[in-house]
Amino acid sequence: MGKSGKSPEKSSGKSAGKEWLGLDAKSFATDLDRHLNLTLGKDPVEGSHLYLYNAAALTIRDRLVERWRATRDKYATEKPKRVAYLSLEFLMGRTLTNAVLNLDMDEALRKALKDYGVTLEELAQEERDAGLGNGGLGRLAACFLDSCATLELPVTGYGIRYDYGMFHQKIKDGYQIELPDQWLKEGNPWEFEAPENIRRIKFHGHTETHADADGNLRVQWVDTDDVLAVPYDMPIPGYRNNTVNTLRLWKASATDEFKLDQFNQGSYTEAVAAKNEAEQISMVLYPNDVSENGKVLRLRQQYFLSSASLQDVIIRWRQRNGDTFEGFADKNCFQLNDTHPAIAVAELMRLLMDDYGMGWDEAWEITRSTMAYTNHTLLPEALERWPVRLFRDMLPRLLEIIYEINARFLRQVSSHWPHDEGKLRELSIIEEGGEPQVRMAYLAIVGSHSVNGVAALHTELLKSGLFKTFYELWPEKFNNKTNGVTPRRWLGFCNPQLASLINKTIGEGWLTDLDQLQQLKPLADDKAFQKKWMAVKKHNKTLLAEMVECACGVSFDTDMMFDVQVKRIHEYKRQLLNILHVIHLYDRIMRGDTEGMVPRCVLIGGKAAPGYFMAKLIIKLINSVAEVVNAEPLADKLLKVAFLPNYRVTAMEMICAGTDLSEQISTAGKEASGTGNMKFMMNGALTIGTLDGANIEIRDAVGEEDFFLFGLKADEVEQVRKSYDPDSIIESDSDLKSVMHLLESGHFNLCEPGIFNPIINTIRDPHDQWVTAADFRSFTDAQVAVGEVYQQKALWTRKSILNTASSGMFSSDRTIGQYADEIWRLKR
Ligand SMILES: *Cc1c(COP(=O)(O)O)cnc(C)c1O
Repeated sequence: MGKSGKSPEKSSGKSAGKEWLGLDAKSFATDLDRHLNLTLGKDPVEGSHLYLYNAAALTIRDRLVERWRATRDKYATEKPKRVAYLSLEFLMGRTLTNAVLNLDMDEALRKALKDYGVTLEELAQEERDAGLGNGGLGRLAACFLDSCATLELPVTGYGIRYDYGMFHQKIKDGYQIELPDQWLKEGNPWEFEAPENIRRIKFHGHTETHADADGNLRVQWVDTDDVLAVPYDMPIPGYRNNTVNTLRLWKASATDEFKLDQFNQGSYTEAVAAKNEAEQISMVLYPNDVSENGKVLRLRQQYFLSSASLQDVIIRWRQRNGDTFEGFADKNCFQLNDTHPAIAVAELMRLLMDDYGMGWDEAWEITRSTMAYTNHTLLPEALERWPVRLFRDMLPRLLEIIYEINARFLRQVSSHWPHDEGKLRELSIIEEGGEPQVRMAYLAIVGSHSVNGVAALHTELLKSGLFKTFYELWPEKFNNKTNGVTPRRWLGFCNPQLASLINKTIGEGWLTDLDQLQQLKPLADDKAFQKKWMAVKKHNKTLLAEMVECACGVSFDTDMMFDVQVKRIHEYKRQLLNILHVIHLYDRIMRGDTEGMVPRCVLIGGKAAPGYFMAKLIIKLINSVAEVVNAEPLADKLLKVAFLPNYRVTAMEMICAGTDLSEQISTAGKEASGTGNMKFMMNGALTIGTLDGANIEIRDAVGEEDFFLFGLKADEVEQVRKSYDPDSIIESDSDLKSVMHLLESGHFNLCEPGIFNPIINTIRDPHDQWVTAADFRSFTDAQVAVGEVYQQKALWTRKSILNTASSGMFSSDRTIGQYADEIWRLKR
């Protein structure tokens, strides 16, 4: 790793004459002491490491800031093309350990902490997760920022600084309870408010047209209710390369004059209420994963993020380049993480035309060539549509621009397909019939030069299904970028024992070049290496078992297989299929049919959207089944079941390291990519999965021998649905019949009769979209095969090593390299 050897003094952007802060243990000890006693003004507190955590965070932060400023200087000098990554979600998790390890300050900090009798691990526990995202989409944004900094790419993340991130999940009587996530309660040492970069965002009002001095028609958006966007910057360090990029999160704040107006009229309470309304915009993250609920506040958030971020990019461009947009499109790119910020297409047009006097054609050329859109799902309930009525009231100028974009686009459609009314209706950005709606995905496609899916199958299904006609019109826009995860957080840091074993075996180069893990392949059958590999897994299972014991009160035996499904709870992800298999194992135990059964600990975790009835009921079912199984003496040595509350990034770091079997069992064609599947694979878990999303590429990479495949394929699911008859499937499969009998007899809900009827009804519903019953047989057979392999320790370990060794392509460094080369066209 040439980069890691680069000494800070030689960094090109370093301001002359300034010394870097010391990197030795003594400097760290001095700074810890100073921050604790002077910056924070505290003595070490008995029983709490919070102040010491803050002192450590500040010690590391100072060193981050040096490199952050140097990176800014470097970009200012080199004037590279820049990317703004716009996302309503960034699921960052904790920062301290990641920063310490990326900066290579681990050893020195640990030594300095010895004086306080605290380990870095204990200190790290004090930090709350930055949970500004729901699941995969938000975590992807976080992994991407890590890879961009590591690849030294000038990419800035733009998001919202929610006061309350993803809710905290508790389980009470088996049911999910949502509690507010007060992640900022003890302050956030990792953010820097930048009031000099406040932007003003308009809402409501109306538009007026007038002719300018040259006789051109100009539009003004006036009488608006403005809200201020205040930026909070978080440093994003690359891996041992002195690059520190920025995540800029916007907080909403009331304007001063707005408040004054109201005060002058003596209406104090109205003024405060109005202030509240403005500040509500960044109050809370919407907790819906892959589904929209059409709330007005959500559209306000989307426009708030889009407008603040675009204004920011433009103003900074003009600070560097003066009053010109010449070269703007060659030096800027906007990546839209799903349709959530799709309004940016119309907003960029508005800013260029109304604020900077540009004509339509020139503005459109810039917009179309700088915008790029990533699609994240094929599920119809996730497709964002906003009522035209809402736009007219909240964003009247944006609606005018969308209408004009649509009119010009439809002219293109009719010249491509002359006299085809159907095509116009089909492709229109405005959906007519009933309440007219703005189709945000269509706006994003029309306004972008690139549209990408997030796994090979997903992109193919976009081209042949959801966006088929757009693909016929503009095949060159469509491309695939299979997701990835950062190998630093998701292997190097979360699994130090495995990382150390790999380092000793093939060196450290894999951390920035994950394909090097291939070098482990020749060792897959090496007895001595296998032994070390197994010892590491055992250690990680012990840690995971401690977590499960502490959080769920269920004891997991590390000699048993750890069978894990953690992800958002959603019907398409089929936690229900998993629990049906658990019931089947329990049923076998009760029948005495345990011949060849491999002892398992089944762990399931994930949050359900608060308004998603079925998902919440599935959580209750998992807990009810767990209670019965764990209380059954006959099952004691064979089956344990636990539901882990409050699944989040920090939990996943421990979970993926300690898992034997990764459950990736979505209905084929429904999971766009998945990234949990990649984290598990990197850490040597074997996968049982359907041919869905990136599972397909995972299986191709490791080979079909070392992946447990089951279930209908995407096209077969579509076929089966046409004449789906779950009752007859159940009737003809004695195992499933017996499972249904247990469910229907109320065996798991003796005190709450009937509560699971909605679940039973969906399994038996001929319209069950997720065809759970259709895949039960195949899933159960595949689980038998899993058990047979697990009992052959050497064979399982071989497959485990081969999974890690084959996981190279699932590094987000590979993904980001492809975005940089093929969409952003960055020099590197
Ligand atoms: C990786 C990750 C996800 C995505 O998991 P999938 O199995 O791909 O849905 C969701 N939440 C957290 C906390 C994660 O770390």
